Amino acid sequence: MIYPWLKTQWQLFLQQKIQTRVPHAILLKGVEGLGKRSFADQMAASLLCENNMTGEACGHCHSCQLFLAGSHPDHIVIEPEEAGKQIKIEQIRRLKDKQELTPTVSKWKTVIISPADSMNINANNSLLKLLEEPQQNTLLILIVVRPALLPITIVSRCQKLTLSAPEPAVTISWLQQQSSFLESEIVPLLPLANGAPLKMMSMLEQGVATIIEQVDRDFNLLLAGDVNPVSLAKDWQQYDVLMVFNHLQNLIQRRIVKDQNESNRVKTKYYWHIYDCIIAAIKLISSSSNINKVLLIEQFMVSVMNTDADYKTANYS
Ligand SMILES: [Zn+2]
Repeated sequence: MIYPWLKTQWQLFLQQKIQTRVPHAILLKGVEGLGKRSFADQMAASLLCENNMTGEACGHCHSCQLFLAGSHPDHIVIEPEEAGKQIKIEQIRRLKDKQELTPTVSKWKTVIISPADSMNINANNSLLKLLEEPQQNTLLILIVVRPALLPITIVSRCQKLTLSAPEPAVTISWLQQQSSFLESEIVPLLPLANGAPLKMMSMLEQGVATIIEQVDRDFNLLLAGDVNPVSLAKDWQQYDVLMVFNHLQNLIQRRIVKDQNESNRVKTKYYWHIYDCIIAAIKLISSSSNINKVLLIEQFMVSVMNTDADYKTANYS
């Protein structure tokens, strides 16, 4: 099944298939949680299927059964051997050896490389040679979140296919059809997930909505100076801190916009100071994987409380 927010791109692919204009390589890009892998699987299955020449794979023929069982001899998936690791040159070499053979079951040969931006430099060079000698009825799908990490020589040899997040209303309505989550739980997570429906679903299932509600309550207490930074830092360090600070960044941005509309300059300035503290924390978290989370959160809370004291002094003087 094609996700509702990907129907347009799917129709474009089907047109290429019907008109026998499917490219040799597609760079499939988009933020996390849009269904890129599922889309790539559907493209490959559709080309390999023995029955359906104009639409989605039939799901019943010999080829589809092999594909669904993960054992189609004309389909190869290349992923890092361990999550988060690089794709190595040996994996691309094995692919090259296999690509030289003719298809055994279907008329096509398909390859998915995911995430293609995790190939190391040697793997990139090896893949480039493959792209320079395209074969008939062969489709390589490179799935990427960060295309800037791929060499331009590879990017320029692929047709780009960008998947985008749907309008918030589409995401909300789809999530409500799939689950019992309320709109009030869904909406605050939209910016954190870049509006990507599948990312939203996984965040909701992990209880992120409850965490965000708690962080909002804690943050309001912090702004009121009515909190103990040490005990609160212990609570927050259990969460995904980057997500928490990204959320606070969105929250303060909304407040700044609201206060600018009300021409409340002193308060806006105060919020800009808080914003700086949040950005400093995000920079620290992003720059190192080996960070002392409790200390970082404590420092953030103390700097917010100091900003609050400065603001009150300025306000009363
Ligand atoms: Zn089929």
